[in-house]
Parts: sequence; C-alpha cells; structure tokens
Amino acid sequence: MEKLICNKNKTLIDAWKIINANAKGTVFIVDDNNKLSGVLTDGDIRRFLIEGGKLDSVISNVITKDFIYATVSESRKDLLAKISYRIKIIPIVDNNFRLVDFFEYRTDFHIPVAIPDLKGNEINYLIDAFLSTWISSSGRYITKFEDEFSKYCQSGYGVAVTNGTVALLLALKTLGIGNGDEVIIPDFTFAATANAVLHAGATPVIVDVEHNSWCISPDEIEKAITKKTKAIIPVHIYGQPCNMDAIMSIAKKHNIHIIEDCAQAHGAEYDGKKVGSFGDINCFSFFGNKIITTGEGGMCITNNKKLADKMRILRDHGMSRTKKYWHDVVGYNFRMTNLQASIGFAQLERIDEILKERKTIEEKYKEVLSNITNIQFQRDNLPKCTKVTWLVCILINKNRDKLIKELQETGIDVRPFFYSLSEMPIYKNYVFSNKNSIEISQKGLNFPTNNVVDEAILNKIKEIINIKK
Ligand SMILES: *Cc1c(COP(=O)(O)O)cnc(C)c1O
Repeated sequence: MEKLICNKNKTLIDAWKIINANAKGTVFIVDDNNKLSGVLTDGDIRRFLIEGGKLDSVISNVITKDFIYATVSESRKDLLAKISYRIKIIPIVDNNFRLVDFFEYRTDFHIPVAIPDLKGNEINYLIDAFLSTWISSSGRYITKFEDEFSKYCQSGYGVAVTNGTVALLLALKTLGIGNGDEVIIPDFTFAATANAVLHAGATPVIVDVEHNSWCISPDEIEKAITKKTKAIIPVHIYGQPCNMDAIMSIAKKHNIHIIEDCAQAHGAEYDGKKVGSFGDINCFSFFGNKIITTGEGGMCITNNKKLADKMRILRDHGMSRTKKYWHDVVGYNFRMTNLQASIGFAQLERIDEILKERKTIEEKYKEVLSNITNIQFQRDNLPKCTKVTWLVCILINKNRDKLIKELQETGIDVRPFFYSLSEMPIYKNYVFSNKNSIEISQKGLNFPTNNVVDEAILNKIKEIINIKK
C-alpha cells in the first residue's frame, strides 16, 4: 500500500518515482491526514509534460478533481463495475474519505484455461479493416488470411468460414456426402465433429482411439469400413497428429475421402508435413480458445482447385462466380468477415511465437510436476509426430474429479477432458467401439495454458495434486 501513496505537497517527480517503483502506472495522492486528494497515472504526467508542464510542479496544483474511487461499503461487484480497460486499480476510502485500501483487478484472481494472445498487430489490423469500411465478408484481409494460412499449412487453397463446425459441414457437403453415407470419426473428440456429420445428413460411425496417441485408431477404422463409408475424419486431438501414414493408406485402398479435423492442432506436423495438408479438405477452427483465433472463425484448406472453387460457391449462397444473383446450387452463407480475418492475419504473423510460448508453458508444468508419479503427460515422442501444445493435458489415475473441484475452488480453471461421444445418449446409436476413449476421457484433465501461469500457480497445483493423491 505504501508503494502506492504520495503526499499532495510533493512534486511530480516524486510521484513519478513512486509510479516507476511500484510498476502499477498509478499513485494515490493524499493530504497530511491521509485523506484522498486524487489519483495520478503515468498517462496524466505524460500529458502534463507534453502540454509544457514542469516536473517540479507541486502535485496538488496538477491533479484533477475527477477521479475514480470506491468506499469501504462497496461490494466486489461494485468494484468490478468501476474497472475498465484504462483503470485497473482503484483507491478505497472510509467515511471520512481517508485512504484505507485499494482494489486491483488482476486476471490471476481467476486463472482461465485459455487466454487469447492478442499482443501483436491484431488491434492495428482490426482498426485498419474497420476504418476501410470493409467490415463485412469482402475485403483484403480475407484473401490475405486465406492465402497465408493455407501456405502456412503447406496447402494450396484456403476458404475462410464462420467457424470450425461449419468448416467441417462445408467440407462434407463439398465432397457430396449426405444421406445414406457413413463417415468414420473418433469417439474421443469435441462434439462438433459428430454434429457436422449429422447436420450433413450422413451417419457418423464412432470408433475408438489409440491408447498412446488418444487419436483415432487405424485398426478400428479398418474394421468399421462398409460399402457406405464415404469419409474418415481424423481429429488431431489436443495438438497430437493422427497416424496419417496408416489412415491415408486405408483411404487409398478403399477410395474414401479424408477430412482432417485440425481444430486443435494448428502447426502440428506428421512426418515433417503440416497437419491439414494430407486430406482432401481439412478444417480448422479459430474460436477464442484455439491456438490462433479470430474470435469465432474457421477455414477449409485444400490442394484441389476444383474443391476450393466449389467451397467458395457453397459458402456464398451457391451463387455463380460469374453471373451475379444466379444460383446453380442450394448454398449457405458461411462467410467470415474482414474484421475477423484481420485478427487472424495478425495472429498468423506470430503463430510460431505463440506455439513456442505454449510449448514452454507445457514444459514448465512437466518440470514442476515431474516427481508426481500418478500422472502422465500427453505423449510427445510418437513416431513421425510433432505435436503442438493446445491445452496442457495429463491423465491422472485417481480422484480426478475431486482434484478438479479443489483446483477450481482456488480459482484455477482446470477442465476435465471431453466426454467421449459414446457416453452421451444422443450419439449412442452410432458407436462402433469405444474402450480406450472412455478410459482417456475419464482420466484426463487440462491445465490452464496461458502466460498468466507462473511459478506460484504451478506450485499451488503441485501442492493440491500431492494432497489429493
Ligand atoms: C473447436 C472444435 C471444433 C469446432 O470449432 P468451432 O469453431 O467451435 O465451431 C471442431 N472440432 C474440434 C476437434 C474442435 O476442438
């Protein structure tokens, strides 16, 4: 608290020194009786100097009467209401207006599982897109984002859409998959994979995953293939690439389409090739908690120009690309906006940096939790696989749900793994095999994977795991 206080009879340079030392950008100004006179920020001083003010001016001559404060009787909710993008720290006064406390908004009161990393050009490009007035689904960021992201995925064409689920649906419809067709998907995935198949009118065939990779099992795929099988959707779960050698050879042998679901694996590689470059059409999500984000958003990637053209038509109401308002097919409106694409384009500039940071976070978890015997981290040494870190994952043998509850009560947002699809009644009829999926789903949890996670939080997690084991 003392580090935040300066007497009003001192000079700006004194205040500035305090701000510099406390690294909070703010100092509370009080009189000799500790009554609050005002609040001074870094920015206030900067503006004062720019307007010709002198650093040896007495503070009381500089501060304004208008400032944000709270009283001791206000609730946490009232305090939060006073927090804004500009104001993250608020003085608290008693009934005599004496400074008694302060409230600081810190994201680490609650450690979320994911925080989008938007510290690059996101805001600049977003403003640029906004000021250009091209805020809808035409604009230069769309093509830039499509071109650069498909290039990043070592693939020829990108078609940006509204979200990852729609990307899967568009891929299925473009490949002509619908009523009467079967699509093989893993039991252990996020529900969107199954929903897209069902919305396409096809039948999902849910097969088990491998014990080591948690990804769809090629052996189970083989067993589940029928005359009706039209496609397989391998999901690179939690950043782990599927066994693409085996899957591609099955697809070839049976003449079946592959649609990779890369929603959790931007930048992962199999045999030195990026995921999203193997299948016929491959799908990404840019939801807020994914590796890179556009808020909501998705993209279909393909090497096949014909498929890309067909996707663009279906994405845009099925309208002819050459004859405006002429519709040859019944299409959709699946278009991404230029605003979203501007954010995505900036994210893409830093994707390698973002992936590196995520990997470093995972390594820190591994280091701190290395002595705990009843947990296993996600494998990262599978043949030909270069996984990426989406969310840090562990399997824990005992007491998972108690551990999750305890960590959540301390404000650390640990998440259980996805339920395996076969556990949910709405998907039950489509299950072919599910043994490993259920086990993995019941043992797994995700740790917060973001830059807020520091030593103290890691040690807290370690302590709680140790108590619970
Ligand atoms: C997030 C996700 C999706 C869906 O993406 P949205 O953008 O949320 O629609 C699909 N599949 C998997 C595996 C996902 O994790």
